Amino acid sequence: MGSPLPHVAVVAFPFTSHAPKVLMVARALATAAPSATFSFISTTDSLARLPTGAGAAPSNLRFVEAPSGGGDGPGIPSWRRMELFLDAAEDGGLRQALETARAAAGGAAVTCVVGDAFMSMAADAGVPWVAVWTGGPCALLAHVIGDTIRKDIGDHAASRADEPLASYPGLGMYRVRDLPFGDAGAGGDMYRVMTTLLGRVAERVPRAATAVALNAFPGLFPEDVSAALADALPNCLPMGPYHLLPGAAAAAAALADDGDRHGCLAWLARRDAGTVAYVSFGTVAALPPDELRELASGLEDSGAPFLWSLREDAWALLPPEFLERAKAAADSRLIVPWAPQAAVLRHPAVGAFVTHSGWGSVVEGMAGGVPMACRPFFGDQLMNARAVARLWCFGTAFDEDKPMTRGGVAAAVASLLTGEEGARMRATARDLQARVVKAFGPDGGSVNNFHKFVDTCLTVGRD
Ligand code: UDP
Repeated sequence: MGSPLPHVAVVAFPFTSHAPKVLMVARALATAAPSATFSFISTTDSLARLPTGAGAAPSNLRFVEAPSGGGDGPGIPSWRRMELFLDAAEDGGLRQALETARAAAGGAAVTCVVGDAFMSMAADAGVPWVAVWTGGPCALLAHVIGDTIRKDIGDHAASRADEPLASYPGLGMYRVRDLPFGDAGAGGDMYRVMTTLLGRVAERVPRAATAVALNAFPGLFPEDVSAALADALPNCLPMGPYHLLPGAAAAAAALADDGDRHGCLAWLARRDAGTVAYVSFGTVAALPPDELRELASGLEDSGAPFLWSLREDAWALLPPEFLERAKAAADSRLIVPWAPQAAVLRHPAVGAFVTHSGWGSVVEGMAGGVPMACRPFFGDQLMNARAVARLWCFGTAFDEDKPMTRGGVAAAVASLLTGEEGARMRATARDLQARVVKAFGPDGGSVNNFHKFVDTCLTVGRD
């Protein structure tokens, strides 16, 4: 009997911005290997929110439901939904979903699991596992040696906050305060759930993954960092930004057109090049109400046109009359609950990005050649902001200990759009953009690694 035909199950972590990023990888895979079968696995809720049909989904990519663990009812806090889902997945839920995928594919056994690294129970699913990391690569490095770092620093994290992490390979440019481990005191239930999840990732990825995809391009980090990543992770493949992967890119473009329900791209088309500040804090971070108001006033004070993607539940917290003033000045101010961000950041009108520096936002900003002002909150955002401001130098970081102030926001936006310092950062951002383009050009680093990734996914598990 010959080898079984490849049937790759792509397993999403069905919360926050994780699933759309892994769907990009799934689309790229399915486009690259039209004769293989791909099953994208996520919960019913998550699949309903995803653009599963946008941009003509490849016909060899099917969607399969995973058990939610009972957390999809109304009124359940997000930490509890995550916990229920993860418990169920650890407790046979993933194997059950793989079985459903097999049955839906006419009995073709799953030959490889390509899973969000957060779904690290894939290590024990009895099928080779290729992990996809969606966050900042250095944060994964810190998690992998997290036990050692915690042992060294112990309870002194606060008093040693400004100390550089000089003795840990690849982490020397970061400080103790930038570590992605969170604040146990402030964290509560979500801290507990994430700490368990990331502890499992740190233990299982180096031990059990066949390869690890990173949302970065080769050469983005200095050599010592790349060497530390290659040392810590099995067969590590920087092949991003994921939204530019062939197949993912076509879908993302179709999605931007379809998904521009609030007319962001049409509004940008009427603005002059490099004049607009785009503002977004991603899918999780929520600004404290006072800080949100300072940000809003600072944007007004900057005098720059701005496009702000702000979840609708926060609109009531804006300063009095802010939305009315925005409506009256609709030519220079647009507030929307959702924007096609990657396309917005590529638009020539956008000249500055005010962001929480989630990794997806950082690489989309790079791909757009847009300098950024980072206000990090938690997780990998602090390391990302540090690298934007100190390593790549195409942006600034607000002080992570203090809320943004009205004056600080106005100054940061004005500096990025018009200042001398801003001109230097804009030039650096354009250089980075050129490096992204090269990574996806002929013989580009990301394209080459993506080919290796496809090859690995199609060949493992078929002996
Ligand atoms: N995003 C978007 N439109 C919005 C806000 C966010 O398309 O209005 C997307 C953005 O392009 C990015 C993701 O949501 O791909 C956010 O990911 P990131 O890693 O920056 O932050 P997270 O949401 O995970 O904190």
